[in-house]
Amino acid sequence: MPGVRRLARLSYAAMGSAKKKPKRSGKARRKPAWAKLADEQLLDLRLCDLGLRIEGSPVERPLLKLFSELERRGVGFRPHYWIAQEWFSPDGVPGIAIPFYLLHPRLKSLERRFMGEVEGGNADSLMKILRHEAGHAVDTAYRLRRRKAWREIFGPASRRYPRHYRPRPGSKRFVQHLDSWYAQSHPTEDFAETFAVWLKPGSTWRRQYEGWPARRKLEYVARTMEELRGQRPRVRARHHVEPIRIARRTLRQHYAVMVRHYRSDDAEKIDKILQRVFTNRRRRVRQMRASTFLRENGPTLRRRIARRLDASEYLVQELLDHLIGRSRSLRLLVRGEKRKAVRRVERLLVVLARKSQKGVGPWIAL
Ligand SMILES: [Zn+2]
Repeated sequence: MPGVRRLARLSYAAMGSAKKKPKRSGKARRKPAWAKLADEQLLDLRLCDLGLRIEGSPVERPLLKLFSELERRGVGFRPHYWIAQEWFSPDGVPGIAIPFYLLHPRLKSLERRFMGEVEGGNADSLMKILRHEAGHAVDTAYRLRRRKAWREIFGPASRRYPRHYRPRPGSKRFVQHLDSWYAQSHPTEDFAETFAVWLKPGSTWRRQYEGWPARRKLEYVARTMEELRGQRPRVRARHHVEPIRIARRTLRQHYAVMVRHYRSDDAEKIDKILQRVFTNRRRRVRQMRASTFLRENGPTLRRRIARRLDASEYLVQELLDHLIGRSRSLRLLVRGEKRKAVRRVERLLVVLARKSQKGVGPWIAL
């Protein structure tokens, strides 16, 4: 839908980063009847029939945390929120749509199975996305994008939203926050990302972005939010856009659409290569997981490849994170000698890093 700021996904890859398992909370939660169904039966349920609620879900506390962060920074506005199919903050409505799959572990694992990752699936990435979406909501609430200084700093918000964008990994004109150099995709995303970096408690942005042109953007956000301190928002619409309660698709139909839209040939290709580099057949009892192997060898590989190609370590890490996420989803294991496995992975990473250096990818789907 036009005018809706959706969170990006890589088209060649849904980039999952190394994510910790969420801790199980001891609190008893309302257990939906469908929680016991097998995946295949679960997929036949309609989204509107899942009976999901944010209250008492794993998202409730992070939302409260977001509100206290806003309060601590003197932002006199709280975005409203609702459950939808994806993350977004609509134009003209200063609120946050929260994807349904975050509200139950069974839905999270379906999301991982089909999309290869869960956006906001761990505490850290969830807070990052919430701060980002809060940035859009604040932008909308105070009509910031209409201001002259905003347009001069971030560019025209009216710029067409691209289907894909091609980031420049080394650019210091943008903050680095969500994966995929997302700030580079559009002026409104640039603002949301800058806002998120500024909002984070204990943020050391002044030091971290010292000497970067991006710091001017952060200073603008700090100045503007100071000026708006305690002010009531101009836009106060509170309605819900594309809420889950009117989504009549089944989960199966939902994922068919999502997979068609976001997964590309490149993603399939990388999966196939990974399946050759590693294996999904277990031969020994203590065969190492490919994801563990990649994490352990990550720092060395990252440094070596960045030096060899004169690429940024951030870029290589992005690619590594993707391989780790995919290896986990595909349940891959290390085969053969570890030394050889390192070499096979290095070759794959070099090809991927070269591709993105040359600007032939990754294309990032919006
Ligand atoms: Zn956004």
